[in-house]
Order: sequence, then C-alpha cells, then structure tokens
Amino acid sequence: MKTSISAYRGRFAPSPTGPLHFGSLVAAVGSYLEAKTRGGSWFLRMEDVDAPRCSAAAAAEILRQLEACGLHWDGEIVWQSRRSPAYTDALERLKASGRVFACACSRRELADSAIAPDGAAIYPGNCRDGLPPGRTARAWRLRVDTARVDFDDAIQGRIVSDLAREAGDFILLRSDGLFAYQLAVVVDDADAGITHVVRGADLLASTPRQVFLQECLGLPRPAYAHLPVAVNAAGEKLSKQTRAVALDVSRPGPALLAALEFLGQQPPRELVGAGPQLILDWAGRNWRLERVPRRRTLAGEGETDLK
Ligand code: GLU
Repeated sequence: MKTSISAYRGRFAPSPTGPLHFGSLVAAVGSYLEAKTRGGSWFLRMEDVDAPRCSAAAAAEILRQLEACGLHWDGEIVWQSRRSPAYTDALERLKASGRVFACACSRRELADSAIAPDGAAIYPGNCRDGLPPGRTARAWRLRVDTARVDFDDAIQGRIVSDLAREAGDFILLRSDGLFAYQLAVVVDDADAGITHVVRGADLLASTPRQVFLQECLGLPRPAYAHLPVAVNAAGEKLSKQTRAVALDVSRPGPALLAALEFLGQQPPRELVGAGPQLILDWAGRNWRLERVPRRRTLAGEGETDLK
C-alpha cells in the first residue's frame, strides 16, 4: 500500500541489549506523543543488527515494558536481524557508484588515528585508493571527502557538520561481517517510509553521517528532533553500562509522569496514582514539542516530582 507523503510516520528503535530504563522510556514517550498528536503512526523497530550484543530475552522484555506503559505500536515490528538482504542491496548500490572502498586495516593499525568527537577513530585513508598489495578486505567504508552536512533539528536547532573532521570515511560493513548501525538505520527508515525521527540527543553525532548516506543512496531525508538525554548525578548517560535500573512495569504511572516532566511537559498532580492510559490521554491532549528543553543532556533518573 502506498502511503501519502504528508502522513506522519514516526518510530521508536530500541537496541535489545537490555531492558528499557528511564532514558529509553523518554525516547519512546517523546516519539510516541509527537507521532500521535500529529495524527501519525508510530512504528517499532528492534535494532538487533549487532547480534552478539543483543538477546531475544531483552527484546521480549522491551515489548512487555512498552505494552505495560500503554505505548502500543502500529503495524508489524521490524527486526534488523532479518533485513540483511536490504542492507546488502544498499551496499551493492554504493559499490556500483564508487562511493565505498574495501579496507584491510586492523584496529591496531588505526590505533594512532585522530579521534572524532564521539570517540571513534577518524580513518587516515590507508586503503582509500585501493588495497595495499597482499592485503585482503576486512570492512567496507564510505568515502566522505569534504562532505558538509546541515540540517534543522526541531529541538536542537541548526546543526552544521564537517563530516571529514567529525567522522571521516566511516564503516558500513564491519570486519566481523555485520552491517554497521549507520547503514541499517538509513535503509530501515527509508524502507518504512519514516518521515520523522524523534530520538535521544546521544545520536546527534550520528545524524550527519546518516544524512550523508541518505544523499549517497538517493533516499529522502526525514525531519529530525533530538530529545535531551537523561544523565545520572555523575553526568553519565543512563545505560546498561552505567547500571541504570530497568523500568519497573508494575508501576508504569510514576515512570510515565517522570518522563513527561523530564520532557518539559507539566502533568498535573491529579495524575499521581493514575494508570498509563489516563496519563497518556492527558499527554495526548497537552503535548507540546516546544516545551521540551533545548538541551542535549539533562539530569533525571525517573523520579517524579509530583507528590
Ligand atoms: N537503537 C538506537 C538506540 O537504542 C536508536 C537508534 C535510532 O533511534 O535511530 O540507541
């Protein structure tokens, strides 16, 4: 079925490396409300492309948590682990257009490279003009050259990026044979007809690479809104690594209220003790994207201030 260009199609794309915690609930709630209040659909994609880091148990738990919070998705769930043919096809197109090159470099050989703002090594260009004699391809990289990428983020404002300095020639197919997150996201969003990407600002560093890839593949660019990311008292992003506590599905109400407060919405005290449906009904009537704090990080661990 062809959908009209104007229909809003949003998504939530968790990586099933562990259960949802407060930080991921914020991204779920923000993307859900923005889609629903604009008459749109909200799709769910399990980002299990990095199979060794993901588990079926974590994916099942995420589904249970979303349902307990009343965050019901539209349509079929997309599983990245089942989409290799689509990623292969995109990589073949890039090969045909000369946009990618095979790379033989090992991690050790790149150890002295400059470091990008997101901590990744900036590729020094060793294999750009062909594999050195006797070396075999380990990975495939996208040629970045002097690409500049600009886009308007609905929350963070204008983003201007110098990709060569900030990312360099980045990997699309890893040496372990897995497709890189950057390629998978771009192909998946395009195939699902996603028009609006609402997600955490920790991914803002990836967005210019994704926009550039869209241009290389001739794919439409969705609109972007990057929500502030929840950090703990030490300023660290809530994640499995920082031992963020899993969302307690036996009490979804307080977590939803805390997520709404975190996102700058002002749920009334009368909602304390309410179930998820009542809270989401209120949020659906009162959600304002312009109230979301225009910040990349914000302290918050899921406690509601409402008493
Ligand atoms: N899977 C990513 C994460 O859980 C989100 C990717 C996206 O929203 O584009 O951080």
